[in-house]
Amino acid sequence: MARMVSYVSAAKLVSMARSNPRLAIIDVRDEERSLQAHIPGSHHFASGSFQARMPELARAAAAKDTLVFHCALSQVRGPKCARMFSDYLSEAKDDSAIKNVMVLERGFNGWEASGQPVCRCTDAPCKGTRTTPNCWKTPNFGSPAKRKKDNRPLAMAHQKQ
Ligand SMILES: [Zn+2]
Repeated sequence: MARMVSYVSAAKLVSMARSNPRLAIIDVRDEERSLQAHIPGSHHFASGSFQARMPELARAAAAKDTLVFHCALSQVRGPKCARMFSDYLSEAKDDSAIKNVMVLERGFNGWEASGQPVCRCTDAPCKGTRTTPNCWKTPNFGSPAKRKKDNRPLAMAHQKQ
Protein backbone atom coordinates (compact mmCIF):
# COMPACT_ATOMS: atom_id res chain seq x y z
CA MET A 1 0.00 0.00 0.00
CA ALA A 2 1.43 3.35 -0.97
CA ARG A 3 2.04 5.76 1.84
CA MET A 4 0.82 9.31 1.41
CA VAL A 5 3.49 11.96 1.77
CA SER A 6 2.18 14.77 3.96
CA TYR A 7 3.66 18.03 5.18
CA VAL A 8 4.38 19.03 8.76
CA SER A 9 5.29 22.44 10.22
CA ALA A 10 8.37 22.98 12.39
CA ALA A 11 6.24 23.63 15.48
CA LYS A 12 4.21 20.47 14.91
CA LEU A 13 7.36 18.44 14.30
CA VAL A 14 8.78 19.58 17.65
CA SER A 15 5.75 18.29 19.53
CA MET A 16 5.62 15.09 17.49
CA ALA A 17 9.32 14.38 18.08
CA ARG A 18 8.95 14.96 21.80
CA SER A 19 6.15 12.48 22.16
CA ASN A 20 7.24 9.89 19.62
CA PRO A 21 10.65 8.21 20.06
CA ARG A 22 9.96 6.31 16.84
CA LEU A 23 10.16 9.42 14.71
CA ALA A 24 13.29 10.02 12.64
CA ILE A 25 14.31 13.19 10.78
CA ILE A 26 16.08 12.64 7.47
CA ASP A 27 18.17 15.52 6.12
CA VAL A 28 18.68 15.15 2.36
CA ARG A 29 20.71 18.33 1.83
CA ASP A 30 23.98 17.72 0.07
CA GLU A 31 27.28 19.42 0.98
CA GLU A 32 25.45 22.27 2.72
CA ARG A 33 24.86 20.09 5.73
CA SER A 34 28.53 20.20 6.66
CA LEU A 35 28.71 23.97 6.10
CA GLN A 36 25.54 24.80 8.01
CA ALA A 37 23.94 23.47 11.15
CA HIS A 38 21.37 20.68 11.27
CA ILE A 39 18.34 19.61 13.26
CA PRO A 40 19.50 17.82 16.43
CA GLY A 41 19.33 14.07 16.08
CA SER A 42 18.73 14.13 12.34
CA HIS A 43 20.12 11.53 9.96
CA HIS A 44 21.93 12.55 6.80
CA PHE A 45 21.14 10.90 3.47
CA ALA A 46 22.27 13.35 0.79
CA SER A 47 19.92 13.67 -2.17
CA GLY A 48 22.77 13.05 -4.62
CA SER A 49 23.24 9.48 -3.41
CA PHE A 50 19.78 9.01 -1.94
CA GLN A 51 18.45 6.46 -4.39
CA ALA A 52 21.43 4.13 -3.92
CA ARG A 53 21.21 4.40 -0.15
CA MET A 54 17.48 3.70 0.24
CA PRO A 55 18.06 0.10 1.42
CA GLU A 56 20.46 1.44 4.04
CA LEU A 57 17.88 3.99 5.16
CA ALA A 58 15.23 1.29 5.38
CA ARG A 59 17.49 -0.69 7.70
CA ALA A 60 18.48 2.35 9.77
CA ALA A 61 14.83 3.29 10.21
CA ALA A 62 13.51 -0.23 10.72
CA ALA A 63 12.31 0.51 14.24
CA LYS A 64 10.77 3.86 13.35
CA ASP A 65 7.15 4.51 12.41
CA THR A 66 7.47 8.09 11.12
CA LEU A 67 10.11 9.58 8.84
CA VAL A 68 10.25 13.33 8.25
CA PHE A 69 12.32 14.45 5.27
CA HIS A 70 13.73 17.89 4.66
CA CYS A 71 16.31 19.75 2.58
CA ALA A 72 17.15 23.46 2.74
CA LEU A 73 13.68 24.67 1.73
CA SER A 74 11.82 21.37 1.28
CA GLN A 75 10.69 22.45 -2.15
CA VAL A 76 12.52 20.04 -4.42
CA ARG A 77 14.94 17.54 -2.88
CA GLY A 78 13.03 16.88 0.35
CA PRO A 79 9.65 16.03 -1.23
CA LYS A 80 11.34 14.16 -4.09
CA CYS A 81 13.31 11.89 -1.74
CA ALA A 82 10.25 11.40 0.49
CA ARG A 83 8.19 10.22 -2.51
CA MET A 84 11.01 8.05 -3.80
CA PHE A 85 11.38 6.37 -0.44
CA SER A 86 7.64 5.94 -0.03
CA ASP A 87 7.55 4.19 -3.43
CA TYR A 88 10.54 2.10 -2.46
CA LEU A 89 8.80 0.89 0.70
CA SER A 90 5.70 -0.02 -1.31
CA GLU A 91 7.71 -1.96 -3.87
CA ALA A 92 9.90 -3.69 -1.29
CA LYS A 93 6.74 -5.30 0.10
CA ASP A 94 8.43 -5.93 3.40
CA ASP A 95 6.60 -5.41 6.64
CA SER A 96 8.25 -2.12 7.40
CA ALA A 97 7.08 -0.47 10.60
CA ILE A 98 7.20 2.90 8.85
CA LYS A 99 3.65 4.19 8.60
CA ASN A 100 4.14 7.89 7.96
CA VAL A 101 6.40 9.56 5.42
CA MET A 102 6.38 13.33 5.84
CA VAL A 103 8.14 16.48 4.65
CA LEU A 104 9.12 19.35 6.93
CA GLU A 105 7.55 22.54 5.58
CA ARG A 106 10.09 25.25 4.66
CA GLY A 107 12.96 22.87 5.29
CA PHE A 108 15.98 23.49 7.47
CA ASN A 109 16.03 27.22 6.64
CA GLY A 110 12.48 27.64 7.91
CA TRP A 111 13.25 25.53 10.98
CA GLU A 112 16.21 27.70 11.91
CA ALA A 113 14.40 30.95 11.08
CA SER A 114 11.54 30.01 13.40
CA GLY A 115 13.98 29.73 16.31
CA GLN A 116 14.09 25.97 16.72
CA PRO A 117 17.36 24.58 18.08
CA VAL A 118 20.10 23.51 15.74
CA CYS A 119 23.16 21.33 16.22
CA ARG A 120 26.63 21.77 14.74
CA CYS A 121 28.24 18.45 15.61
CA THR A 122 30.03 16.32 13.03
CA ASP A 123 28.67 12.99 14.30
CA ALA A 124 27.01 10.69 11.82
CA PRO A 125 24.29 10.07 12.68
CA CYS A 126 23.82 13.09 14.92
CA LYS A 127 23.15 12.16 18.51
CA GLY A 128 21.77 15.61 19.21
CA THR A 129 23.60 15.93 22.48
CA ARG A 130 26.73 17.98 22.00
CA THR A 131 25.41 21.50 21.67
CA THR A 132 21.79 20.85 22.55
CA PRO A 133 21.75 18.44 25.48
CA ASN A 134 18.53 16.45 25.62
CA CYS A 135 17.06 19.04 23.36
CA TRP A 136 13.93 17.05 22.57
CA LYS A 137 13.16 16.68 26.27
CA THR A 138 14.05 20.09 27.67
CA PRO A 139 11.06 22.25 28.63
CA ASN A 140 12.88 25.24 27.15
CA PHE A 141 13.17 23.52 23.81
CA GLY A 142 12.80 26.12 21.12
CA SER A 143 12.56 28.96 23.60
CA PRO A 144 13.31 32.28 21.91
CA ALA A 145 14.70 33.62 25.21
CA LYS A 146 17.68 31.31 24.97
CA ARG A 147 18.49 32.53 21.49
CA LYS A 148 18.51 36.21 22.55
CA LYS A 149 21.51 35.69 24.82
CA ASP A 150 23.56 35.05 21.74
CA ASN A 151 24.08 38.50 20.30
CA ARG A 152 26.09 37.46 17.31
CA PRO A 153 24.27 37.89 14.04
CA LEU A 154 23.17 34.56 12.61
CA ALA A 155 25.59 34.78 9.70
CA MET A 156 28.52 35.20 12.06
CA ALA A 157 27.40 32.33 14.22
CA HIS A 158 27.56 30.18 11.14
CA GLN A 159 30.99 31.35 10.15
CA LYS A 160 32.34 30.45 13.54
CA GLN A 161 31.94 26.84 12.58
ZN1 LIG B 1 24.36 17.08 15.50
